[in-house]
Amino acid sequence: MTKIRFSALEEINKRSIINIKLPSSKISDYFGENVFDLQKMQKYLSKEAYKGVKKSIETGTRIDRRIADQIASGMKDWAISKGASHYTHWFHPLTGHTAEKHDAFLNIDQKGNSFEQFDGDLLAQQEPDASSFPHGGLRNTFEARGYTAWDPSSPAFVVGKTLCIPTIFISYTGEALDYKTPLLKSVQAIDTAATNVCHYFDKSVNKVIANLGWEQEYFLVDEALYKVRPDLALTGRTLMGHASAKDQQLNDHYFSSIPERVLEYMKDFEIEAHKLGIPIKTRHNEVAPNQFECAPIFEEVNLANDHNLLLMEIMRKVAIKHKFKVLFHEKPYAGINGSGKHNNWSLSTDTGVNLLKPGNTPKSNLQFLTFLVNIVKAVKEHSDLLRASIVSAGNQHRLGANEAPPAIISVFLGKELDAMLNHIEQKIQDKNMTADEKTELKLDIGKIPDILLDNTDRNRTSPFAFTGNRFEFRAVGSADNNAGPMVVLNTAVADQLNKFKIEVDKLIKKKNKKDEAILIVLRKYITESKAVRFEGNGYSSDWEKEAEKRGLTNIKTAHKAFEAYISKSTIDLYERNNILNKKELYSRYEIKVCEYVQKIQIESRVLGDMAINHIIPTAIKYQNVLISSARNLKEIITDEDEFKSLTESRINTIKKISEHIKQISKKVQDMINERKKGNKFDDCTDKIKIYELKVKPYFEDIRYHIDKLELIVDDEMWPLPKYRELLFNR
Ligand code: ADP
Ligand code: MG
Repeated sequence: MTKIRFSALEEINKRSIINIKLPSSKISDYFGENVFDLQKMQKYLSKEAYKGVKKSIETGTRIDRRIADQIASGMKDWAISKGASHYTHWFHPLTGHTAEKHDAFLNIDQKGNSFEQFDGDLLAQQEPDASSFPHGGLRNTFEARGYTAWDPSSPAFVVGKTLCIPTIFISYTGEALDYKTPLLKSVQAIDTAATNVCHYFDKSVNKVIANLGWEQEYFLVDEALYKVRPDLALTGRTLMGHASAKDQQLNDHYFSSIPERVLEYMKDFEIEAHKLGIPIKTRHNEVAPNQFECAPIFEEVNLANDHNLLLMEIMRKVAIKHKFKVLFHEKPYAGINGSGKHNNWSLSTDTGVNLLKPGNTPKSNLQFLTFLVNIVKAVKEHSDLLRASIVSAGNQHRLGANEAPPAIISVFLGKELDAMLNHIEQKIQDKNMTADEKTELKLDIGKIPDILLDNTDRNRTSPFAFTGNRFEFRAVGSADNNAGPMVVLNTAVADQLNKFKIEVDKLIKKKNKKDEAILIVLRKYITESKAVRFEGNGYSSDWEKEAEKRGLTNIKTAHKAFEAYISKSTIDLYERNNILNKKELYSRYEIKVCEYVQKIQIESRVLGDMAINHIIPTAIKYQNVLISSARNLKEIITDEDEFKSLTESRINTIKKISEHIKQISKKVQDMINERKKGNKFDDCTDKIKIYELKVKPYFEDIRYHIDKLELIVDDEMWPLPKYRELLFNR
């Protein structure tokens, strides 16, 4: 009997639920108390410094060096008042995780007196020892220089005893080495482009903000079980495990009552999140057993993304206290739903208008239509890049698995809105419109708010769906940094809006009326982007055929998908909008590809080890039990026929076990041979083809035989916690 698995299960039986005492005050009383926000700045900074930061936040301008000293000093005083002894630059290297290096405020003068110090230099530019962060060839290791600089649009915060300062991370020569730098640039790009277009409708708009509301899905598993599954511990997902007889078939988990131990965990991390100003609002059970979701109130995209990354860290930390492990992997278990991070994205103005929500006037409806159509067109133009932005080794298991959006990027608008675009396309012609035609069209556009009012259409099979006042990009992976897809979306839409402005202005110069010019260009875009609009079932095989007819791409493999990062159209797009240059794009491409290879390599090694060291020895042990029991029987039963009939099934099982063992040994060896072939290449861009097309397919093959053995071998001997145990213990 395997002690490890059963002692883990016993440990769970002894768990006591940690009852979280909620603070006696309202959430709004402690919300943001660990954040150096504008309110606290006002208290801790001079008037001049406060004004400087505020301006920098609002306009994205640099902070004056002189003011930086004052801000640093105020920030230090506040942090010390919160009990902080250290500070760290908190940044997002291209590992996809966050990074931090803590330094004490402590300093010593010449006489040996100690004091606390933190000055403006530490805000403006800092050099962490950065040689081990991925840079895709942008920085030689011996130079190892990377610089961090404060991003004032995301406020500093205190976690434990450390002041954390959100920063960008760039190389000595100025290239971006992180996710935040291009995100901030894309935020600027869309602000400028969208503000210019808004001026057709409202001159008083000064700023357009891109918003993000992410929905974070995750699994919980008891820590004791996690520890005895080497695959979960090393790869974040189970590489083997037969399906549980019952999992999500009955749909009895989704939105059902939250298990008590889980609820206490949720309350605990939500309190921490609220203190850090993360506006978590929603919590619920997801479709798969032990799968859950949380979502905040949406915020400006850069801040929202910082909050998402920070929350993931908090969730990991708080889980330890509750003896849970939180799994952010996109597909921890085969056969049941995986996890995503739906990105709800919208644009709003500093005048308080959501540009993706039609208003009460014909003008605001035309504005709504303008943004809607330009977004659809942008998605059409850059669908391959959008697709690349959500590809990772983990998310590849989830996409297209009949639970998550397919590899084909399409846009869902809802029946009524879709019909409205078709209608507009038919009505407008290139020639000047007659007065009657114009009135009719205006009436049609005027109907948009009513249409949307009762538009409760939801299409969960679409990767990019309009949901009434925002778009929901549903294909993003649960472990991913949202910045990847958000940079693409912001940039593609900004670029599209710039083009739109040029075309409309041209028509206006040719004496077209403004509204007419806008409608003519929109009509053209509706036609050009029609192929990407799809209202049907994104999971159906008919859609694959239909999409192919429409000329949409359906890039199923990761190595092909990644190539969109370095396509001519992407390089042009990113350089034109000053987001990333060609060199930076190539480096990012390389990092993505290498990461993919490394992940598959690790999974392949873990699978091989477990198959050979855990599974085969267990199967042989059980086989020996069967063999000796048959032998023992033979001693008692002398009649040959009777012996045969009694042991027939036992002998068959012995043979079956032998066959599975043989297959596992052979396939593991074949997989290792393929790995060796892949490793002969130096370049990840060559390796990935072998790893994706030759190594990875063995995972399913090997697993098949292991899972069959799981059904045969005595439960008491099986070394690994089974799916039913992983999924139903909480
Ligand atoms: P559902 O599961 O129905 O999609 P949720 O309430 O789980 O809805 O999540 C919706 C997310 O979308 C939340 O983060 C919410 O703040 C966000 N959201 C709502 N309106 C907007 C908007 N205009 N722009 C961006 N995000 C939004
Ligand atoms: Mg949603």
